[in-house]
Amino acid sequence: RIAYVNGRYVPIAQAQVHIEDRGYQFADGVYEVVPLYRGRLIDEEPHLDRFDYSLGELEIARPMSRAALKLVLRELVRRNGLSDALLYFQATRGVAPRDHKFPARVKTAFVATIRRSRPPSAAAIEQGVSVITLPDIRWERCDIKSIGLLPNLLAKQKATMAGAFEAWLVEADGTISEGSSTNAWIVTADGKLVTRDAGAAILNGITRQRVIKLLENQGIAFEQRAFSREEALAAREAFLSSSSSFVLPITKIDGHAVGEGKPGPVTRRLRDVYVAAALETPVL
Ligand code: PMP
Repeated sequence: RIAYVNGRYVPIAQAQVHIEDRGYQFADGVYEVVPLYRGRLIDEEPHLDRFDYSLGELEIARPMSRAALKLVLRELVRRNGLSDALLYFQATRGVAPRDHKFPARVKTAFVATIRRSRPPSAAAIEQGVSVITLPDIRWERCDIKSIGLLPNLLAKQKATMAGAFEAWLVEADGTISEGSSTNAWIVTADGKLVTRDAGAAILNGITRQRVIKLLENQGIAFEQRAFSREEALAAREAFLSSSSSFVLPITKIDGHAVGEGKPGPVTRRLRDVYVAAALETPVL
């Protein structure tokens, strides 16, 4: 496996960063994950837009131009010879003696890796997965794709220990923000398709945004608003969206079956439509 580290392509075992990289010491950085699906980079531009947004919110200088970044991603795909993979890239504020203040002169550090994707199993797609709910203990800027992910890791680990695929995070007011690494959707008991509005409480998923576009194209009504755990427990359908899982049905929340306990028609249709749209992307 070949990685990209600050201007060079290197075998992953030799890929290294400085111990005073502010990403390493402070999680002072942002990242993106772009899916490569059957040779296609899915929604590359929106991912690059979100990368710029995250960098801007933290006042981290762009590591390179958008055109150069696109070249790096293509070169990583080419050198690693993969067609179904996840591209990971991160930028940190750079290397400087440890000090909370932003360093005066610092060069953004940039690394990128690629690895074969492990898409959800056929069983997960056909039968759905389970989620548990946990308190959302993250900060108030979840719209920034920060590499500071400890609360997300703790939640995913608890879900895994409980035999669940994902954790849905519940805010102090009882509403669900999103999953630890996915966005959350339900079809309510009275048939309304709902996902949390894109504010600072969630990461505005690129998959979420794509699903919204598809819903608009198809003329399917939906609402962007907060929904409670109770509303989710009473829902007919539930699903999650993310770059690695696309649209994935959820058939159990905290041990309770969602609807009839199998993926519902809205979820199945959206997954199909999402995959079809992804396949319309030109091959690299
Ligand atoms: N929410 C969080 C907290 C995430 O980490 C992710 C995945 N990076 C998502 C939602 C889904 O976003 P996307 O569709 O862009 O993968």
